[in-house]
Amino acid sequence: MSKAPSLREKLSILADAAKYDASCASSGGTRRDSRDGKGIGSSTGNGICHSYTPDGRCVSLLKILLTNFCVYDCAYCINRKSSNVRRARFTEQEVVDLTLAFYRRNYIEGLFLSSGIIQSADYTMERLVRVARLLREGHQFRGYIHLKTIPEASPALIEEAGRLADRLSINLELPTEDGLRRFAPEKDGATIESAMGRMSGAITAAAAEPRGPRFAPAGQSTQVIVGADGSDDATILGRSAGLYGTHRLKRVYYSAFSPIPESSQALPSRAPPLAREHRLYQADWLMRYYGFGSGEILAGAADGMLDLAIDPKLAWALRHRERFPVDVNHAEREMLLRIPGLGVRSVDRLIAARRHRSLRLADLARLAGSERRLRPFVVTADHRPTALLDRADLRSIVAPPRQLALFA
Ligand code: SF4
Repeated sequence: MSKAPSLREKLSILADAAKYDASCASSGGTRRDSRDGKGIGSSTGNGICHSYTPDGRCVSLLKILLTNFCVYDCAYCINRKSSNVRRARFTEQEVVDLTLAFYRRNYIEGLFLSSGIIQSADYTMERLVRVARLLREGHQFRGYIHLKTIPEASPALIEEAGRLADRLSINLELPTEDGLRRFAPEKDGATIESAMGRMSGAITAAAAEPRGPRFAPAGQSTQVIVGADGSDDATILGRSAGLYGTHRLKRVYYSAFSPIPESSQALPSRAPPLAREHRLYQADWLMRYYGFGSGEILAGAADGMLDLAIDPKLAWALRHRERFPVDVNHAEREMLLRIPGLGVRSVDRLIAARRHRSLRLADLARLAGSERRLRPFVVTADHRPTALLDRADLRSIVAPPRQLALFA
């Protein structure tokens, strides 16, 4: 029998096992503040695992699994029952002690805790909830807590998890029912959806009653694995749009599939290009902040895949030249947001500026940082792109080959 791992070894095994989970940015939470002297620590400082929030803030979390033992056998997962990896399991008290120790040293701003499924969904969920309860109620921990929840767990346990955690998440993992059937047969899309639905109802109800009991104030998120089951980007984005619309998810995280040892023959032997993950995040951003419908982003793209060489908004503009040029001195905000090279903040500044004067190309270049990308797509007081939009080589004008090569 092999020797039981030390605490240090457990940390190394269970932090490494958690690295495949991308769904842990701590954005959007009501930050607990311990400056009132009633709690410990503060939620600023450096840490051991960095995540980036949508506004670009970098936060640090202790990101670990309670255990990498699992009774499920999801083909794409390194921790699946049949995987030949070294296993470890923290006690709940060990997770609490580690979190407090790192937090007091200001290494972290919070905890992201997930787990393989041991014995049953309820047995595992009870242990995750116990960690959060010990931290919050036993130690008045004011840091950020993100708990991964198990869709099959009883609603009472999810309820308690929501009361204690800032954010909850359930991983969808694969975007289609067919993918789940093939690669995660113990999981059920309908159970995942209904758990997300209950969570969404509780989050909305708590947000409407600020004086009532709290419930996951930073919302819920999920992770979708990209490149494991053959789903194209149009399918993935359609699924994300459905989740944002139906369950008001705060974020969908995209995680490129990484091939694992002794995996199923049905899984790809190579990881998808990392640029694909990056383009999906950009497209996701377009759906959430730029008013694009999921079907629109890839409309006209023959293979249902995002162009890896250029960003999805530029790709959309090149396919829909009939929508341009846009007169920046008169167009609605909705259309200004579609101009390549202009972000949300630039558009808002542009709208504020045009109240006082007619905008010229140089004004736009200042807002966008460059005029190359937007020049063919805009009309300003001193510029009308005439034939530019009809040129066959427009793509190489707005995205020179040197830049395209970065993504090749
Ligand atoms: S349930 Fe989670 S930890 Fe277990 S095999 Fe499936 S993905 Fe991996």
